[in-house]
Amino acid sequence: MGHLHDDVIRTVSDRDVRFIRLWFCDIAGTLKSIAISPADLENAFAEGIGIDGSTIEGLTRSYESDMLLRPDPATFELLAWRGDTNATGRMMCDVLTPDGEPAASDPRRVLKDTLARAEEKGLEFSTHPEIEFYLFEEPYEPSQPLRPIDHAGYFDHVHRGQGQDFRRAAIQHLEAMNIQVEYSHHENGPGQNEIDLRYADALTTADNIVTLRTVVKEVALSMNQVATFMPKPMIDQPGSGMHTHLSLFQGGKNAFHEPGAEYGLSRLGRQFIAGLLRHAPEYVAVTNQWVNSYKRLWGAQEAPSYICWGHNNRSALVRVPFHKPTKGTSSRVEFRGLDSSANPYLAFAVLLSAGLAGIEGEYELPEGAEDAVWDLTERERRAMGIEPLPTDLFRALEGFEGSELMASTLGEQVFEFFLRDKRQEWERYREQVTLYELRSTFSRV
Ligand code: GLN
Ligand code: MG
Ligand code: MG
Ligand code: MG
Repeated sequence: MGHLHDDVIRTVSDRDVRFIRLWFCDIAGTLKSIAISPADLENAFAEGIGIDGSTIEGLTRSYESDMLLRPDPATFELLAWRGDTNATGRMMCDVLTPDGEPAASDPRRVLKDTLARAEEKGLEFSTHPEIEFYLFEEPYEPSQPLRPIDHAGYFDHVHRGQGQDFRRAAIQHLEAMNIQVEYSHHENGPGQNEIDLRYADALTTADNIVTLRTVVKEVALSMNQVATFMPKPMIDQPGSGMHTHLSLFQGGKNAFHEPGAEYGLSRLGRQFIAGLLRHAPEYVAVTNQWVNSYKRLWGAQEAPSYICWGHNNRSALVRVPFHKPTKGTSSRVEFRGLDSSANPYLAFAVLLSAGLAGIEGEYELPEGAEDAVWDLTERERRAMGIEPLPTDLFRALEGFEGSELMASTLGEQVFEFFLRDKRQEWERYREQVTLYELRSTFSRV
């Protein structure tokens, strides 16, 4: 065993750790956890811990329901909210088959494989997510109107605001877990907040997003609030996006940057964006995975609905933020499509894979759209070659189903499970008779 393993074992004994939670995710990105005791730690590192994966969404086929969890010692952190005595630690895990091979269905495996493909070209992929979510008063009762914790808006400073206390507590917990937070602020919607994580390699960021969601939910509950990352919880308020800044580094240098070029953007950067645009109809089902995701995308309020890129254009799917020449190597690409409920491992894998396809195929970047695309007529948009994003999960799945790129990025097992599972979600949704239909039709006919 390596020194990282020894470090974990030492910390567990020095810090009075009584429980070690092994964390992993299902295909939807829902966190799963099993606790082991310190006595089992060495075995977990050496052999992995056996679990029955058969009840976990998409993780196993029925004939291979036994799986192994192997914790990644580099991810060991204490859960601050569980206290210092009889403390609890956690590690992110890789899921293995019984013979110790990476499990095809492990979302972390999907991202690692895609990162390895970039590394073959000498490229390292980093991400910086801006994570939006809502805080509501407890108790949450789905048949009642939601009660946001405040009525503030974008960047508002709320005196004695609960949101401030909330962000302060959540960020302290995150930092205690070695997760660096860059910015945090109140968002547009009442009770809506945003926490932005510092740039890190995409695997670390994906692990950190999963952790942040848990921390946010824990802290909210401790304050008699309930947090949700649902893409569009309220009809007339903004949805919760997860704009993510993407960068590729080559030999320690920002590969998207070229001094003097338009927006400081290199040829490789342009090809990467072209890949993001061309393959959007194929991967949107993954970056926006719920029926509800499309209510955000088509609910205006600064969410993108059209497949285009721009510079100062907040309705674009991809934005190249203002580039200060003095900042040298900061060129980056902001992908605005993602919502806060995506599985970050799968989402980062499909975005990277679309960008790499652009680089490999030397795609030409179409003209940027500087006007707010919302203000154009349908005909003007068509003349500019700007296509809409899918308007619902059904259409997104049509694009996904026919995609070679998605099948090869996710692997056959995840690809097929995802398609089956999401088709079911669509069918269950489609057969609902909603309150809206009753209100609008019942008495009229
Ligand atoms: N909430 C918006 C979205 O859904 C983003 C708002 C913002 O960060 N400017 O993408
Ligand atoms: Mg932001
Ligand atoms: Mg925001
Ligand atoms: Mg943003």
